[in-house]
Amino acid sequence: MAVHAHPDDESSKGAATMARYVDEGVDVLVVTCTGGERGSILNPALKHRKDIEDNISEIRRMEMDRARAILGVRQHWLGFVDSGLPEGDPLPPLPEGCFALVPLDEAVERLVREIREQRPHVMTTYDEYGGYPHPDHIRTHEVSIAAFDAAADPDRFPDAGYPWQPLKMYYDVGFSYERATALHEVMLDMGLESPYDEWFKNREEWFSKRRRPNLTTRVNVANWFERRDAALLAHATQVDPEGWFFKIPLDLQHAAWPTEDFELVRSLVDSTIPEDDLFAGVREREDAVACEEA
Ligand SMILES: [Zn+2]
Repeated sequence: MAVHAHPDDESSKGAATMARYVDEGVDVLVVTCTGGERGSILNPALKHRKDIEDNISEIRRMEMDRARAILGVRQHWLGFVDSGLPEGDPLPPLPEGCFALVPLDEAVERLVREIREQRPHVMTTYDEYGGYPHPDHIRTHEVSIAAFDAAADPDRFPDAGYPWQPLKMYYDVGFSYERATALHEVMLDMGLESPYDEWFKNREEWFSKRRRPNLTTRVNVANWFERRDAALLAHATQVDPEGWFFKIPLDLQHAAWPTEDFELVRSLVDSTIPEDDLFAGVREREDAVACEEA
């Protein structure tokens, strides 16, 4: 179960990993907390179109339908409303009723219900900074962490289904010092312009202000990068097809950094770090349970 804040986040964080696991027969469910109603239109070709601006909720659902089909995942909406990314100084207040302002327990209960119904073994979410500081991403982190524990506790939300304990929880690590450096260097080696140029110059300062993730788990998904990119492009209003995300040729990505990366933050099974599989320790445990039952 991959918990995300908005439609499109599933395609930019861990998408190739999901596609690989789908191909290997894993039942992968994306839970999208909000409808993305306040997302800015980032595709220059689709900006300032009234027909799009007036129907953004519907359009984002259609985009999500396409991305879901490309990745082969199942996907559920948690049903909250996008908080938008507040901009300005001072920051404007968040809009009434938005996801980040809903009482925490109300959101946790909805996710607990999903967990108890779907019974995932592994969950992914964002770190406490939300991967980037969007109020919905930070809220997604808080809700996921709380729900991971509450889902197994019969005293919490007793009307939200039969308790279920997921076995592992990970943070998506989309951006890491190691990956950005590797991709930056391979671009320079090939005589190409690196989209990480500015970042590389300021990288020490950049990371001095942020938590540096621990890459406990690297899943080799080079063969699924194309599916990841296709899914992200399906969110046509939300991405610039000429943007930095698509600047590094896939063969260089294969060579320099063929994995998507995760940080293991909760585990009830044994596995050896570093891992190369989100289900390390889970498969062994399930096999043992199956043997006992036989
Ligand atoms: Zn988002």
